[in-house]
Amino acid sequence: MVKITQDIDACIGCGACAAICPKDWEFKGDKAELIGSKKEGKLLVKEVSDAGCSTEAANACPVQCIKINK
Ligand code: SF4
Repeated sequence: MVKITQDIDACIGCGACAAICPKDWEFKGDKAELIGSKKEGKLLVKEVSDAGCSTEAANACPVQCIKINK
């Protein structure tokens, strides 16, 4: 499994992740959120079999608050 995490406090709401990977990322208020994730402390976390387009979203995030852990 692959773990996708987002540091929600660090997100600046640029919208890049939702534009690149709308199946995993949606805009809520002034930040993007990882769809279907659980909150673990300061992180949103989701385990998937394949990170798919979230890999590109992580690469595009200007503050690098999206991590993909294999
Ligand atoms: S790309 Fe990063 S900073 Fe921009 S909205 Fe997504 S998580 Fe937030």
